[in-house]
Amino acid sequence: MSRVILPGAMVNGQPATLGVMGGGQLGRMFVHAAQAMGYFTAVLDPDTASPAGRVSHHHIQTDYLDEQGLAQLMQRCAAITTEFENVPAPALTTLGAHRPVAPGAEAVAIAQDRAAEKAHFVRCGVPVAPHAVIENAEQLRAVTDDLLPGILKTARMGYDGKGQIRVTTREALSAAWAELKNVPCVLEKMLPLQAECSVIVARAADGQMVHFPVQLNVHREGILAVTSVYEGALPKTLTQQAVAATRAIAEGLAYVGVLCVEFFILQDGQLVVNEMAPRPHNSGHYTLDACDQSQFDLQVRTLTGLPLTPPRQHSPAIMLNLLGDLWREGQTPNWGQVLDRSVNIFSICESSPTSQSKMSLESNSAAKSVRPGCWTTRSSTPTW
Ligand code: ADP
Ligand code: MG
Repeated sequence: MSRVILPGAMVNGQPATLGVMGGGQLGRMFVHAAQAMGYFTAVLDPDTASPAGRVSHHHIQTDYLDEQGLAQLMQRCAAITTEFENVPAPALTTLGAHRPVAPGAEAVAIAQDRAAEKAHFVRCGVPVAPHAVIENAEQLRAVTDDLLPGILKTARMGYDGKGQIRVTTREALSAAWAELKNVPCVLEKMLPLQAECSVIVARAADGQMVHFPVQLNVHREGILAVTSVYEGALPKTLTQQAVAATRAIAEGLAYVGVLCVEFFILQDGQLVVNEMAPRPHNSGHYTLDACDQSQFDLQVRTLTGLPLTPPRQHSPAIMLNLLGDLWREGQTPNWGQVLDRSVNIFSICESSPTSQSKMSLESNSAAKSVRPGCWTTRSSTPTW
């Protein structure tokens, strides 16, 4: 990873091309950033209509573990990144043997498994929710009552609150594990949350690290709904703690690339790490409009070895994450209302526009004046 890949340079006989495993919305924004900087791009995603595949110079339409697909990606690309954490880690190992790959397979493998992820956080000295790993009936029986009420989460493949069941009794816990098909799980104690926040860092191969401001997030039904980033949105001591914890977590992985770490802020003000994403994150989309460099620009820079400078937020931001199913059964958005803001529509699926289209809507002005409407899911008034 030490060699710099300049845009326009010839690498292995072709103009510098950056590859991305996965063709979703994050891949699409990576492709846009890479192309704006002068790179060619290649996307590997089996979906013929993947959002990133549609805008990339090259789209390799194979499974993530398909040997020919991986060989084609390596042949095309000077370096390769990933846009979702469930890209099989062995595919990244294969690619990493021949090309610079960032983030590396090891870091991605840890992020793919809640149990390994929590163990890593503990190793880095960052507090996690009290929890137990449940992989067999014996471990289920050994669960202590102090973890209830809790949330049973599948160790792998969960996202947007999927693969999670809230339980209050031991009987409910057994039933929930059966409902999750007895796959390896983590039972987490339900914590009294005051708020949630996330931190995005970019770490270069030489260890240099920069970060975006701490993002204050509201989730509804396990899905990110609102991200607020402006001076005073969170107390300074808390943001310093969150940044220090995120840097320690990235450092401990010898991470290269963009990493997002999500935290809980408890009622008593304590900061507890929740999970990490080895890639850009939905809570960082505001960086496209409110910062001098976006999280995707930094993904390109860490992948290519270009120098990192600390990103600067030039405008306060409140971002709404709107899912397409807001407009059911043929309804359309109120475009007049939506288009007077910075809007980023990243996927409209022709076959099912109501369930598949998603939209991030960003407002860079008057952040504080829109604040009250964004807090409807807060159960209590913040203590700061
Ligand atoms: P996902 O991987 O689907 O994002 P998370 O583990 O981040 O799943 O959980 C989704 C949301 O559920 C969190 O953002 C938080 O609002 C809530 N949640 C998760 N775990 C806990 C917990 N231990 N205590 C309280 N709330 C939780
Ligand atoms: Mg989460």
